[in-house]
Amino acid sequence: MRKVSIFGATGSIGQNTIDLIDRDPDAYDVVALSGGRNIAQLADDAIRLKAEVAVTAHEDLFEDLRAALTGSSVEAAAGSNAIDDAASRPADWVMSAIVGAAGLKPGLCALEQGATLALANKESLVTAGALIMGTAQKHNARILPVDSEHSAVFQGLVGEDFSSVERIIITASGGAFRDWSLEDMARATPAQASSHPNWNMGQRITIDSASMFNKALELIETKEFFGCPHDMIEVLVHPESMIHALVGFKDGALMAHVGPPDMRHAIGYALHWPERRDLPVERLDLAKIGQMHFRAPDPKRYPALRLAHEVMEADGLSGAAFNASKEIALDGFLEGRIGFLDMAGVVEEVLTRLWGGACHINAEMTLDTVHETDHIARQTAETVIAERQ
Ligand code: NDP
Ligand code: MG
Repeated sequence: MRKVSIFGATGSIGQNTIDLIDRDPDAYDVVALSGGRNIAQLADDAIRLKAEVAVTAHEDLFEDLRAALTGSSVEAAAGSNAIDDAASRPADWVMSAIVGAAGLKPGLCALEQGATLALANKESLVTAGALIMGTAQKHNARILPVDSEHSAVFQGLVGEDFSSVERIIITASGGAFRDWSLEDMARATPAQASSHPNWNMGQRITIDSASMFNKALELIETKEFFGCPHDMIEVLVHPESMIHALVGFKDGALMAHVGPPDMRHAIGYALHWPERRDLPVERLDLAKIGQMHFRAPDPKRYPALRLAHEVMEADGLSGAAFNASKEIALDGFLEGRIGFLDMAGVVEEVLTRLWGGACHINAEMTLDTVHETDHIARQTAETVIAERQ
């Protein structure tokens, strides 16, 4: 039986992962499940899957979790250190699906014990790409991408020599405001930004899709995971979300990955790799679909894409600053302190201040320097938001 752990088990990716595991429970020995505030879901899944341990990120919820697990053999634990400990328990395959920068440390712990890391938490590669790739190499552990675009590129590269790749194109649906005017986008509410035309995902990534901060993170993720120069990577708006990425080769060929917008494909590919197994996803009928559309992203509507290229060029700890300031700007939008279009302005201002010397952005990348940069960028973003109010 394969030993598996799922971090962020109560979230959208976590629940899709559990859906796949539930279809063949005898094949898996579940080591750890982690969640945040959704104790009922965490306990329910941990008991059904007979996990060794269930961990909530919140220490104040320990008693609730313990009570919910009463009568079962599942251990209860709480706090971020307990999540790291659970990620250090031996497992063959670990899903990293905590949202935000909090996902980095558990992913590193899983790699240090040699597990195969199915990486949905894009912030790990954005904030600390060199660290996470270096840790995998040092411990001879494998990282398999779960973000749909990166899984698509990964699949497009099977059997290919990376030196024959000319460009990588990741697609973007355009999110909730694809066809809105800039004036309407400026007035958009969190509720409006939280509904995605094609994908059913967590709230934060859904809003990041509308602003294309999600695609900006994915540009950086691509550079870090595949180790390619930033100007090799392009974004293409494709409203139908059926082509997830294309790999362009030296001979002019473009290999497109086509599939339904269902994360269980990318999760299942990472779960069963290097095999392909039957997955419960829709089979596309291209004759019925008839048409697919493509257009270049408008830089005026999506400044996050330009910022991502600047961050990739600056390199070092810039990704950590970018992600942290984006998380605070998103909180500011959710709390009604800034407008939808102000998020990019806040992030750009933070980067300008940090690149201007407020932080050692070119210091060596360690977990400490990543955390320090994250902290300074968050504080700076709070200051910038306060100045704008
Ligand atoms: P969700 O918001 O649906 O779930 C997040 C998970 O993380 C939940 O289990 C949540 O617990 C837990 N969590 C929240 N905050 C913390 C914290 N501080 N410490 C530990 N755990 C925490 O997110 P998604 O599933 O949508 O996304 C997860 C990751 O995968 C993100 O990095 C996202 O960018 C990436 N991703 C998601 C895709 C998708 O389709 N959803 C596609 C590609 C990538 P609880 O809910 O119990 O509070
Ligand atoms: Mg994606």
